[in-house]
Amino acid sequence: MKIENLIDGKPVAARDYFETINPATQEVLAEVASSGAPEVDAAVAAAKAAFPKWAGLPAPERARKLRALGDLIARHVPELAATETDDTGQTIAQTGKALVPRAADNFHYFAEMCTRVDGHTYPTPTHLNYTLYHPVGVCALISPWNVPFMTATWKVAPCLAFGNTAVLKMSELSPLTAARLGELALEAGIPAGVLNLVHGYGKEAGEPLVAHPDVRAISFTGSTLTGNRIVRSAGLKKFSMELGGKSPFVVFDDADLERALDAAVFMIFSNNGERCTAGSRILVQQSIYADFAARFAERARKIVVGDPRDEQTIIGPMVSKNHLAKVRSYIELGPREGATLLCGGVDRPSYAPELSARVAGGNFVWPTVFADVDNRMKIAQEEIFGPVACLIAFKDEQDAIAKANDIDYGLSSYVWSENIGRAHRVAAAIEAGMCFVNSQNVRDLRQPFGGTKASGTGREGGSWSYEVFLEPKNVAVSM
Ligand code: NAD
Repeated sequence: MKIENLIDGKPVAARDYFETINPATQEVLAEVASSGAPEVDAAVAAAKAAFPKWAGLPAPERARKLRALGDLIARHVPELAATETDDTGQTIAQTGKALVPRAADNFHYFAEMCTRVDGHTYPTPTHLNYTLYHPVGVCALISPWNVPFMTATWKVAPCLAFGNTAVLKMSELSPLTAARLGELALEAGIPAGVLNLVHGYGKEAGEPLVAHPDVRAISFTGSTLTGNRIVRSAGLKKFSMELGGKSPFVVFDDADLERALDAAVFMIFSNNGERCTAGSRILVQQSIYADFAARFAERARKIVVGDPRDEQTIIGPMVSKNHLAKVRSYIELGPREGATLLCGGVDRPSYAPELSARVAGGNFVWPTVFADVDNRMKIAQEEIFGPVACLIAFKDEQDAIAKANDIDYGLSSYVWSENIGRAHRVAAAIEAGMCFVNSQNVRDLRQPFGGTKASGTGREGGSWSYEVFLEPKNVAVSM
């Protein structure tokens, strides 16, 4: 199978191709267009040409087409989920029940939202001020390889709903479902040129896209390293930067431990641990630390690792051989830094069932739990982006806050306590864009999603998405 770029509504062959590989079976899934500056120029030109007409459509008409796209995605969930699972190693239980349905929701939500954009008035005795919201123009949308379809639609839906046109670049590791998105968008009646796709590597395709003078806004999700590079090379543009994380999951001794344990396990091991909001630093109060660690490891040992196409599987393969090597290197580093390995590891532990023949060559690691972790260790400070939990002890509320904030990142955070005052105090004190109290990460599409510190700038979701995809203008009329 060949995956081409989508430019001005047509598949366009590239000068070169790369392979995308199934990380469970190692089979080649497709040859994908490898783009560079010429393909990017053509895609931006198509988006620029399509912009005036699309922006000029009344919002309810744009909304109708986006709703139709949401409906098409909802109808194609099994097909899209299977493709996403094959391309990324994310389990079918996640892609089929959560991630692809959520992509349909993204279109339904922003279709509704674009019909409700309103403005403000600021009357004075001499002037009437009012605000108008204009679409920005051509937007560059860049997605990482983890949960790629959901992330791409989280950008495409508000971008198009508010009247912009787009050039979408997926990660070279997971381009397949977005290629289907391009086809479904045309089927839904979204005009040619409104959504363009260029595939390729970051350096060859991503860099010319973000630096292009006709691109007015960039919505980027990916690593902090790449985010910094983009900010330097893009020049003056609107930005939303959704970057890496190493989020604290803080458990006080008065927490509902059963619920906290379930949520802690979910927040580090679901989505293969390849999750930006993973609760990867689990801070546990000293008085309950030993008990919590034993019970957490017991749960981790029961997690099913294996074929991501199997409904029972909780952890599938890491997305690529390179990423597998990175995750393994941290698992090997832990004991050298002085952490205690409670379970898991790079090789299949004796308590874990064997892999089926179909996926025997897959990029697997087993859910790994480190105890006795010091917050300054590399395994606690650096984003591993795999199923590796670090259990860190703290003394009291002050110590918990200090350790939670002793990190470059600031994406999400989790606080578990039955003491309502303490829960609010700690939630307010943690340096992060989001805090969940006595809860795992639960998304409402109206929430401001995003991070602070090295986790990024800007927020997306609900009217927070105006910040990147709409340009406010103040009109002052003399009375
Ligand atoms: P990455 O930064 O390597 O790549 C992300 C995307 O940027 C890819 O499409 C890549 O091709 C492109 N790219 C690379 N170099 C580029 C350049 N110089 N110019 C323009 N584009 C370039 O990230 P990844 O490994 O694909 O994804 C994992 C990272 O994404 C993790 O750090 C994770 O925390 C983060 N992430 C963050 C969020 C969030 O919402 N904050 C969500 C998911 C993932």
